[in-house]
Amino acid sequence: MGKERIIIVGAGPAGCAAAVQCARLGVKPLLLDSSGKAGGLVANAFLVENYPGLEKPLTGEVLAGRLAEHLARFDVEITAQTVSRVEPDPGGWIVRTAGDGFRARCVILATGTVPRSLSIPGERDLVSRVLFYEVRDLLAAMPSPKKIIVVGGGESSFDSSLRAANAGASVSILVRSDRVRVRGRLREMVTGHPEISVELNTRLIALKKVDGGVAATVISADCESLRLADALLAAVGRKSTASLIVSSPDPLSLTHAPGLFICGDARSDGLGQVGIAVGDGLAAAALAVQRAIPEKVK
Ligand SMILES: Cc1cc2nc3c(=O)[nH]c(=O)nc-3n(C[C@H](O)[C@H](O)[C@H](O)COP(=O)(O)OP(=O)(O)OC[C@H]3O[C@@H](n4cnc5c(N)ncnc54)[C@H](O)[C@@H]3O)c2cc1C
Repeated sequence: MGKERIIIVGAGPAGCAAAVQCARLGVKPLLLDSSGKAGGLVANAFLVENYPGLEKPLTGEVLAGRLAEHLARFDVEITAQTVSRVEPDPGGWIVRTAGDGFRARCVILATGTVPRSLSIPGERDLVSRVLFYEVRDLLAAMPSPKKIIVVGGGESSFDSSLRAANAGASVSILVRSDRVRVRGRLREMVTGHPEISVELNTRLIALKKVDGGVAATVISADCESLRLADALLAAVGRKSTASLIVSSPDPLSLTHAPGLFICGDARSDGLGQVGIAVGDGLAAAALAVQRAIPEKVK
């Protein structure tokens, strides 16, 4: 097992920003991502309008492509590896993977989040067949859906609904509470869309695969009813991956331990923003490079 100076785990916006900054500061990092691709979660976005400096709003897929081009410009490749643990090692860290793993002086953990589950019976058996947690996975499995149910009252649910509607689906958003957690333009775009409906006080209690799609049992105004659709997208929140990879992470701390940095959505412990992830990645890279090659003071 050779020793790297800096390993970055995750090639979403945080990991890509960190990788470009490390390379720019003179330390080419080893960049690992389980998907082997750049972009991370933002590749799901219908339109990214809030990242500063964009000439015009970009789809998440296009922004992911831009991140890949940026890495290539700095000659940083992505190694397709899934990291299971990051453990302390004398003078640095061990990064465990399915293979031999790696040693590094510094590790930047930018592994983002995992989806929260719906907590309904049999959920696991339906995943990737009729139940999805990311709209791009749903559209990859069924490119022209006719009817989609989306569960969740937050930004991810609303944004994904626009993307599904744009692909030709009619979309029902089910929200458990009496209000949605979305403001401004995104809310207006959804509520004004002819193919999207939002149902408040509507709780999903069961889900099963049926011929041609999915049957969802819901309770609304004390009445139980059955909804049929091609597929269901669960967008009920996300949580940090950090605790799956390092011991007792402090989710709000960028500097987790000497030489180990947690950034982006993995640090904020939920769905954040591209700009925050990028800022974290830059800050982590500056600290990691300083640690990996301390500047000589004459
Ligand atoms: C539908 C949707 C729309 C959105 N729209 C916007 C928007 O308009 N504007 C905005 O600012 N933000 C938006 N966001 C939020 C934005 O996508 C995230 O805040 C951002 O992607 C977080 O970046 P990150 O690099 O921290 O994590 P992620 O983007 O989640 O990237 C994590 C990366 O780590 C990899 N990884 C995970 N675990 C491992 C492991 N064990 N080993 C190796 N690799 C691993 C993953 O494959 C992934 O590539 C949206 C999110 C969604 C879901």
